[in-house]
Amino acid sequence: MSRLTVIIPSFNEEDNIENTAKEISSVLDEAGVDFDLLFVSDGSTDKTFEMIETLSKADKRIGGIQFSRNFGKEAAIFAGLDYATGDCVAVIDCDLQHPPKTLVEMYRLWEEGYEVVEGIKSKRGKENPFYLLFTKIFYGIMSSLMKLNMNKTSDFKLLDRKVVNALLDLPERNTFFRALTFWAGFKSTSVTFDVEQRRAGKSKWSFSGLVKYAISNTTSFTTAPLKFVFILGIIFMLFSFVLGVETLVNYFLHIAADGFTTVILLILIVGGCINISLGIMGHYISRIYEEVKGRPRYIVSKITGEKESEK
Ligand code: UDP
Ligand code: MG
Repeated sequence: MSRLTVIIPSFNEEDNIENTAKEISSVLDEAGVDFDLLFVSDGSTDKTFEMIETLSKADKRIGGIQFSRNFGKEAAIFAGLDYATGDCVAVIDCDLQHPPKTLVEMYRLWEEGYEVVEGIKSKRGKENPFYLLFTKIFYGIMSSLMKLNMNKTSDFKLLDRKVVNALLDLPERNTFFRALTFWAGFKSTSVTFDVEQRRAGKSKWSFSGLVKYAISNTTSFTTAPLKFVFILGIIFMLFSFVLGVETLVNYFLHIAADGFTTVILLILIVGGCINISLGIMGHYISRIYEEVKGRPRYIVSKITGEKESEK
């Protein structure tokens, strides 16, 4: 019988672990799905990992790994993919904002032969308006770059073993899981779900964290910002051509002089653009640097459950 591995990235979720394990298990048991739960504690500093250990002693189907420090949700997801042993693998948030019953729906679609089942948010949960605006802009840009609607996508997905292996074969370290499953192709479908309220604890995102996430994902996924720099250059060349001609004409007509405002504005605009462009290029260079160093995506400090014997 085929088995589903459920990956649950968890960072300081001591208030959620037990309940989450219970809810997911009962939903899957009820549906008769053979499964195991794989908690990835992303360098949690609270009792998260101890709780996972306790659970895994009581139930063989529960296991977990602990990172040596916080490496971020992307790393946690990829560690989960690395350690998962199921014939299909799902990723779900620890705070139950992704409803476990949708897992069953996803699993059924997998049984029908779909290799990627995307969880699409029917509506975003109650989130602060600032955050909503930010995600709207970010996903707006990503969507137009990738030619797919990213706004309602999530990390809540179910993947066939083949897809997991394809993702694990990617050599890069800076990944964007949410978009990579689209990029990978395969026979895909989607299910919609309502984003629930977080069960316990607080969201781990700060505004600066989100900005970093957005920049890092955009640059790890596309080189569009570099092309944007090039386009900016062309626009300025055209602009400078027009202004150049005007300046020369004025000069020869002897009506040059005043135009100090124009000069100052030009310096400001051109200076700003050059700095932005350098920044964008610098960012890509730093990404190349990080990839070239070839450091691991994450470091595991502890393992619990069945996984212990396998690795
Ligand atoms: N998470 C993680 N590492 C981090 C931040 C978050 O593994 O550095 C996990 C977190 O425990 C949760 C999921 O990622 O299971 C989503 O995080 P959160 O609920 O804080 O984000 P939000 O739902 O507000 O986007
Ligand atoms: Mg959440």
